[in-house]
Amino acid sequence: QRPNSPAARDVAYHLHPYTNARKHEAEGPLIIESGDGVTVTDDSGKRYIEGLAGLWCTSLGFGNERLIRAAEQQMRRLAYYHSFAHKVPPPVIELSEKLIAMAPGNMGKVFYANSGSEANDTAIKLVWYYNNALGRPGKKKIISRQRAYHGVTIASASLTGLPYNHADFDLPIEGIRHTSCPHYWRGAQDGESEEDFATRMAADLEQLILDEGPETVAAFIGEPVMGAGGVITPPRTYWRKVQEVLKKYDVLLIADEVICGFGRTGDMFGCETYGIEPDMVTVAKALSSAYLPISAVMMRDEVYQAIADNTKKIGTLGHGFTYSGHPVSAAVALETLKIYDEMDIAARASELAPRLQNGLRRYADHPLVGEVRGIGMIAAVEPVANKATRAPFDPAGKVGAQLDQRCRAHGVILRNLGDTLAVCPPLVIEEEQVDTIVEVIGKALDETWEWVRQEG
Ligand code: PLP
Repeated sequence: QRPNSPAARDVAYHLHPYTNARKHEAEGPLIIESGDGVTVTDDSGKRYIEGLAGLWCTSLGFGNERLIRAAEQQMRRLAYYHSFAHKVPPPVIELSEKLIAMAPGNMGKVFYANSGSEANDTAIKLVWYYNNALGRPGKKKIISRQRAYHGVTIASASLTGLPYNHADFDLPIEGIRHTSCPHYWRGAQDGESEEDFATRMAADLEQLILDEGPETVAAFIGEPVMGAGGVITPPRTYWRKVQEVLKKYDVLLIADEVICGFGRTGDMFGCETYGIEPDMVTVAKALSSAYLPISAVMMRDEVYQAIADNTKKIGTLGHGFTYSGHPVSAAVALETLKIYDEMDIAARASELAPRLQNGLRRYADHPLVGEVRGIGMIAAVEPVANKATRAPFDPAGKVGAQLDQRCRAHGVILRNLGDTLAVCPPLVIEEEQVDTIVEVIGKALDETWEWVRQEG
């Protein structure tokens, strides 16, 4: 028999991404029907502040008329074209020029894909291609980090350093290694300063490269600030120390700016915040404020030159998606970047940041809270079972899910990464809405603390 409510139909026909399917069958979906500014409305008419900008992506919020118009106009002019075999639609030309002009470091060329995962997959393939072009076919391993998030395709999920992205998927693939996660609060030894911790993280990386053999290691990939792994802000000097190691062994640095890019950290790119000089940069999400799927891989000219020589030898670059440089996505991305310029998005993020960061840091003394961390307009609150020992809760206790549900009940959608509550609102948010998010998290912490005491 055909189920009839929308929720029942969703349960009947849809396998959800990142969802416990059995729990979903029992509880059904939250149906989000519309969005306006930084808020979304569900099918019962309840409005929420979208405190995670969807999935860390809708930086300009919902219903932006300029983005809607940019999409509509481009659809009418040329709804689709591709960039294979020397062809190109005009918005892609403009977007490439703009992206290269604003990119961190010294990028020379850009390649387009549709998602962060595809961009990181492409980056790996280009690194392999580059080393083959240079006549070093043995230099292929890619080093990522524990708790990194780089996507879910076979290669990018392999880079991701979270257990459930590997379990039962037969991942990671060959040639991927994971080094230590630079989370000082969790990872520091007794009495170790942040500076010493950063030195140790870089030494771990160097040891891994030496153990593998530097002639086998092609690239290191990292998010300037780790997002989905728990919003991990590294020590200030971490990236400088990591880069010294990479330079020493001729290992390329790929900066995954999929979350950090376009103002999130208070600078245009996380690379600027941490003094990172990347060889390649991947972007997605806020590139189009998530209005349409588009991602990009940028590379230094030297990397491009070797790749270009190889395409001449082989006859073509044997890589590209039907929608690499989709003209409607490109037109929307271009308009997004113009809006970021006009509103000075990084300055706006730095202006709002103290409100969010200081507001949340007030909860550092809360009995449930282990660490409050963040930079710019991205932050996290991590609960602990024991404040003194920093022991986490038993995952089965589902403290994070409690926090998430209580925030939602109070009208703010956030996301729990395990027990850690992440915050990453649209950058068009107003001061008072930031305050509301902070207040609601406070209420949710109090209520969850009560729940823990009653349950425990
Ligand atoms: N890289 C980072 C840092 C991300 O946060 C994500 C997604 O959350 C990805 C890559 C993968 O992007 P997508 O989900 O668009 O494939």
